[in-house]
Amino acid sequence: MEGGGTKFVCAVGSGPDDIRDEIRFSTTSPNETLGRAIDFFQKHQPAAIGLASFGPLDLDPASPSYGHVTATPKPGWSNADILGPFRRAFDIPLAFELDVNAAAIGEYTWAPENRALDSLVYYTIGTGIGAGIIVNGQVVHGLTHPEAGHVRIPHDRSKDPFPGVCPFHGDCFEGLAAGPALAARWGQPGDSLPDEHPAWDLEAGYIAAALVNTILTLSPQRIVLGGGVMQRRYLFPLIRLKVKELLNGYVVSPVFEGDLGGYIVPPALGNRSGVLGALAMARATGDEQR
Ligand code: ZN
Repeated sequence: MEGGGTKFVCAVGSGPDDIRDEIRFSTTSPNETLGRAIDFFQKHQPAAIGLASFGPLDLDPASPSYGHVTATPKPGWSNADILGPFRRAFDIPLAFELDVNAAAIGEYTWAPENRALDSLVYYTIGTGIGAGIIVNGQVVHGLTHPEAGHVRIPHDRSKDPFPGVCPFHGDCFEGLAAGPALAARWGQPGDSLPDEHPAWDLEAGYIAAALVNTILTLSPQRIVLGGGVMQRRYLFPLIRLKVKELLNGYVVSPVFEGDLGGYIVPPALGNRSGVLGALAMARATGDEQR
């Protein structure tokens, strides 16, 4: 199950080529939305379920609020218990993860070109910005979970006086570069702006700045950029160029000699990274507990 802020996707199967049933529905109240997901899975009696949810989430199994959403501005969902209703409804292995982490797992597990890697970062750049980080084949959790969408990046107010829209930080990465920031800065949604609009050069610069921090901090073997804003394919070559400019030849690897076309990439699974990642989580937790 991939539980997003606007829609939920539930699928049953063993992998991308074996999806036996799938439904999608709008995210309403926690009771109604989780109830629909539970009804769907009860019909299919799966051996295990992977639950991927929008966050922020409590992912610490030792915490009393493990499996809950924590502080979200989404009405009705603050402190909502995602895992609990599934635990009460099913006596099978359940895996629980942040949606963007599941998307990273999906790309890492199922995309043939990622099989040889042991590190990968998946960014979603859409209504919000987040990143799922895989290092040594494992999703990075840490104290809570990484919030790479809220890092600080250079903001030149003489070039871009827009103050940013993050309710917590104003002009953090998400505050400057998520879909709502594009819409607020330019007075129209990003997808209605033409390719030649100055919005995209600015946007690519912010994304490149964040990616360079990630490259220098984690040295991932590949970076996948998904989410609504990245539907603008024109952004990819711009971002790659700016990443190379910012690194200025400092990171030495055959990967950085070319145009980064194989390094900063769109999702191999399209918009299905999250739900297919949840399926990979279900398989892994089922194997562990068998
Ligand atoms: Zn922020």
